Amino acid sequence: MSGGDLVIERPEGLYCPPGDFYIDPWRPVDRAVITHAHGDHARMGHAHYLASVPSEGVLRARLGADITLQTLGYGESIEHHGVKLSLHPAGHVLGSAQVRLENGGQVWVASGDYFVSGPGDDNATCAPFEPVRCDCFITESTFGLPIYRWCPQREVFDDINAWWRGNAEAGRASLLMGYSFGKAQRILAGVDAGIGPIVVHGAVETLNRAYREAGVALPPTLNVMDVTDKALLKRALVVAPPSVHGSAWVRRFGDPSDAFASGWMQLRGARRRRGVDRGFVLSDHADWPGLQRAIAATGAQRVIVTHGYEAVMVRWLQEQGLQAGAFHTEYDDERHDAQEPATADAAMADAPDEVDAPEGAGMPDEADAADAEEGAE
Ligand SMILES: [Zn+2]
Ligand SMILES: [Zn+2]
Repeated sequence: MSGGDLVIERPEGLYCPPGDFYIDPWRPVDRAVITHAHGDHARMGHAHYLASVPSEGVLRARLGADITLQTLGYGESIEHHGVKLSLHPAGHVLGSAQVRLENGGQVWVASGDYFVSGPGDDNATCAPFEPVRCDCFITESTFGLPIYRWCPQREVFDDINAWWRGNAEAGRASLLMGYSFGKAQRILAGVDAGIGPIVVHGAVETLNRAYREAGVALPPTLNVMDVTDKALLKRALVVAPPSVHGSAWVRRFGDPSDAFASGWMQLRGARRRRGVDRGFVLSDHADWPGLQRAIAATGAQRVIVTHGYEAVMVRWLQEQGLQAGAFHTEYDDERHDAQEPATADAAMADAPDEVDAPEGAGMPDEADAADAEEGAE
């Protein structure tokens, strides 16, 4: 790394030398800028937190009401040791932000996790991704393989609604599992609440409260602990975290139809490995075309890739004539929930037949596969 870099790797996390602070550090530090409240990006134990205004409720719900937190509105800037810092929407979950840093005539942007897919296909539960011009863009790459291409969200929600309606007519509960922060609220905001009652796990309801307090419209939900009418459950959509799968918690629903909502459901084997009836491809991360579009929109000549299939993405960027490298990070949210393939090769072998990787798009060779990180969602 040359001397002027605004972000470098340190054992604690990504570090800004002139500003003397970290971005989403995985070890306790004095000053942490937090891109979003997923557990692997927002860890306990930092002395000072800086995050976006809309993330405050979810951050305090997850890390404790008493953390020392300064908030910044999107687009508002502060200066710290001569580094001008501002936060910009990432479209991933409520409050998610890209971090823009300006110092010594350079602009760097660290994306955190972000969602960009087809045109107009924004995440309804948070502000949409905003491209920020920069010299160097630090991008996530969770789904950075050509096989990952999301259908329009409307089609996914139509499938979910049809599945729920069919189950309700047959007197069977519909158990839909997805990460309790972000994915669950996205499901709630997207389904047709006219089909039947919506029942949620307590962990989901805690986050729903924070979303509603932040002004995000969600349909009415019942905490499962408050439901006394057992007949109601037979028509219900039940939204719960993946950890309930196979646990005693699901017995109260009798014999529910179960499903899993995740970007990993794009892969043929993922639903089978999960052992669920249905898999819905719904991700809070950019797909392969979305990553390409987002990176191009920054105008950055230098790109640093983090978490997930770095080698494939770095090679593709280099083929586009960009200066590209990778940072090793310790972000791993939902890694254990999703049972995604461990390597790029495994993912490719698992791709449905109808998804063809374009020519020259950077198919991984064996060396890449050995290097590829487990992705996360
Ligand atoms: Zn995340
Ligand atoms: Zn992440």
